[in-house]
Amino acid sequence: MKIEKLFKKRYIKEHIFLPSKRRLYTIVSNEEYWIEPNINFCSCKGYYFKHKNGKGICNHLKLLALINDNMIETVKFTDEEYNIFLYILIKDITRYALKTHLNN
Ligand SMILES: [Zn+2]
Repeated sequence: MKIEKLFKKRYIKEHIFLPSKRRLYTIVSNEEYWIEPNINFCSCKGYYFKHKNGKGICNHLKLLALINDNMIETVKFTDEEYNIFLYILIKDITRYALKTHLNN
């Protein structure tokens, strides 16, 4: 998806777990991806190939660097929900990665 389109639609979600204030970020474009700005990681295919070939970062991380806080949708959870949230997120990412892999 083009970066301008992502910018317009405000697809970035910040998931805050309370009371620890631990954060996870996801971006929804064609699929939902896990983005981790602190280590410059994104779970999308574009990131994987660009990173692997030394060609920089994907559009999702570029977008995250450009936006400000009020363009991010914040969703609050409790710390007890962190593990199950992470489990579901990883499961979704893995399913998508496998599907993509099998189609190539
Ligand atoms: Zn990405």
